[in-house]
Amino acid sequence: MASSSSPGIPSSVLIIGSGAFGLSTAWALCKNPRYKRTAITVVDRQPFPTPDGSSIDTSRIIRPDYAAAPYTRLATIAQKRWRTDFAPEHYHEVGLAVTAWGPEQKYVSASLANVNAIGTDKTEVLHSPADIRRACGLEGKDEWGSGSTGYINWSSGWANAEGAMMWLREKVEKLNRVKFVEASVEKILIDHKTNTVSGVRLTNSSELKADLTILAAGAWSASLIDLRGICKATGQVLCYMPISKEEEAVLSKQPTILNLSHGLFMIPPSAGLLKVARHGHGYINPLTVPHPESEDPNETITISLPYTHVDDPSQRVPNEGQKECRDFLTAIYPSLATPSRPFTKSKICWYTDTRDGDFLISYHPKYKGLFVATGGSGHGFKFLPVIGDSIIECIEGQTPEDFQGRWEWPKERIPEEQWSGDGSRGGPVDMVLAEEMAKSRGRL
Ligand SMILES: Cc1cc2nc3c(=O)[nH]c(=O)nc-3n(C[C@H](O)[C@H](O)[C@H](O)COP(=O)(O)OP(=O)(O)OC[C@H]3O[C@@H](n4cnc5c(N)ncnc54)[C@H](O)[C@@H]3O)c2cc1C
Repeated sequence: MASSSSPGIPSSVLIIGSGAFGLSTAWALCKNPRYKRTAITVVDRQPFPTPDGSSIDTSRIIRPDYAAAPYTRLATIAQKRWRTDFAPEHYHEVGLAVTAWGPEQKYVSASLANVNAIGTDKTEVLHSPADIRRACGLEGKDEWGSGSTGYINWSSGWANAEGAMMWLREKVEKLNRVKFVEASVEKILIDHKTNTVSGVRLTNSSELKADLTILAAGAWSASLIDLRGICKATGQVLCYMPISKEEEAVLSKQPTILNLSHGLFMIPPSAGLLKVARHGHGYINPLTVPHPESEDPNETITISLPYTHVDDPSQRVPNEGQKECRDFLTAIYPSLATPSRPFTKSKICWYTDTRDGDFLISYHPKYKGLFVATGGSGHGFKFLPVIGDSIIECIEGQTPEDFQGRWEWPKERIPEEQWSGDGSRGGPVDMVLAEEMAKSRGRL
């Protein structure tokens, strides 16, 4: 039995979740000769590609631009893979401009220092709104949109997230090592006498047993173990507008612009859709649910959990979020933001936020046989080519040195209102999804 004190090679591994963390782990296990006799199962509540999973979308930014140097290092390794042998047809290196309204947004300067420190010769400091407009090919002159200071990293890019996930899933399936199960996990099986996890019970009452259970259920993870004060689900805003082939030809060559002062960003279009979104504090969705670790069915906890277009197919981004995305587009690209061109689709996608933006990749401190790989905090996707290998290193007690003290289970739970974040978020705070939905008609 694998545990934090005696990591050994488990004879069976069950991964809950086939998102970026879960699928990358399954792939890494298949390739690793030490696990050649290990039976690997991946269970997901949805058919692949999970329609409301965080890892499935038109695009995700791929950048080494981080205020925390360890992520710059790991993202640089991942990016080399994106450029060469990891779904390269889904990766586009057109640059990323990281901007703000002023130098008080410290993430921008820290990130620039880190990318320069790794020897990037493709950064360019942007000293003024005019500089940002020129570098990003913006039309609008409104500094609220563009920001007034920042830099561009021409060696950052973006990936078609769904395309890359499909690419990886096919690779894994071809190896013929992983059993994929489509079912919803209801409960992790905990023997409270020995504090040992032996697998999961599914909503259809059947059980999947394993020596080692890896919880990689993204923003839903908190429904399966108590993550209060450690991880919370926050709903983020995405709006899409169809554009013409001619417009796509122009916009697809331009960099992503991300203004960290309000968190709004526009990423180059993919498959005829332009995406405007917000990397913000997000909406919380507090729910009172049975305590996932308790044997007493009457014991409950209140936690934020995802509520998605799978739960409610008519779900749209609340008006405040749609308006912000629209205002941003008006500020940077007024010719696209005309009344005749509405966003035709919007969705809420759920981050698994941690207190400081660090991932949670760790054995559970109490339950033997349970490992947790989550806490993507709105920036995990770019690591798809490498995060599985890192997760195995952590399983084997070999957490990369620069992530020691970052990815482990925190020593204490900190009330969510005291979380510092990683300094990259902008925009409104303390929004509750149901309240914003109630304020808006929630329609496009
Ligand atoms: C709007 C948005 C924008 C982002 N932008 C970027 C970006 O630009 N760059 C970047 O690097 N990262 C970005 N991220 C972050 C990145 O996408 C995530 O960190 C990453 O995809 C998380 O992967 P995951 O495997 O943890 O979660 P997911 O992909 O959500 O996978 C979790 C899986 O668990 C399954 N599951 C949940 N509960 C159960 C259950 N009870 N039983 C069985 N299965 C279950 C779900 O169906 C799901 O498939 C963004 C995220 C969002 C939401």
